[in-house]
Amino acid sequence: MTAPQYKRILLKLSGEVLMGEQEYGIDPAYVVRLAEEVKAAMETGLEVCLVIGGGNIFRGVAGAARGLDRTTGDYMGMLATVMNALAMQNALEKLGVPTRVQSAIPMASVCEPYIRRRAERHLEKGRIVIFAAGTGNPFFTTDTGAALRAAEMNCDALLKGTSVDGVYDRDPKLFPNAVRFDTITYGKVLSDNLKVMDAAAVSLCRENDIPIVVFSIRERGNVAKVLAGEGVQTIVQEES
Ligand code: UDP
Repeated sequence: MTAPQYKRILLKLSGEVLMGEQEYGIDPAYVVRLAEEVKAAMETGLEVCLVIGGGNIFRGVAGAARGLDRTTGDYMGMLATVMNALAMQNALEKLGVPTRVQSAIPMASVCEPYIRRRAERHLEKGRIVIFAAGTGNPFFTTDTGAALRAAEMNCDALLKGTSVDGVYDRDPKLFPNAVRFDTITYGKVLSDNLKVMDAAAVSLCRENDIPIVVFSIRERGNVAKVLAGEGVQTIVQEES
């Protein structure tokens, strides 16, 4: 596969990858490992935007199931993403990578508020920008937040690092003979209800012609491999 010519990417990591082998929370050693991957991506000359989920700390739907209002749970989930963003900022800066966190929910003494033009300037100056607090609205996910920011920041691709190495026709954890796609269209992901990202996120990427690259972040060095057009991945795009 030839290396795609990306200039600016948005990397979306689900909160779960920050917990390492733990059952929940943040494993600082694991965050450092992820920060090294992000640094490697930046060192290829790319401008890197980052969105991190919050599922390792709090999920709104789970809170709602236990009696919290869905909206309250969702706001708690968004706050969780800010904690993850701060942990990642800390790890990146320890590696000497200048990083700014911008939150969709303003919290002036913790990080910057989301300001698109300011984020643009940070990227031009070679800083990584971590977009926290998802879309800032309940009933959304950080996948949708990632697609939104990728569109706003004119990213060439949305890289989704998860614990699975691509998009399969069935859940590979339940069906050992599930087949992985190399490429797949947005339409098929939506019509077959394949578990890549939620439908709102996939639609937003389709409307803005942003390819979604799904790959495993658990494999060391994989971000750089994927950026070089190597490694195992699935690309969701208009025509395969
Ligand atoms: N969330 C939200 N609006 C957003 C983004 C996130 O309400 O725009 C809440 C929602 O409750 C979600 C939680 O934050 O469950 C954590 O985000 P997500 O589940 O997307 O994290 P991930 O699965 O990527 O770790």
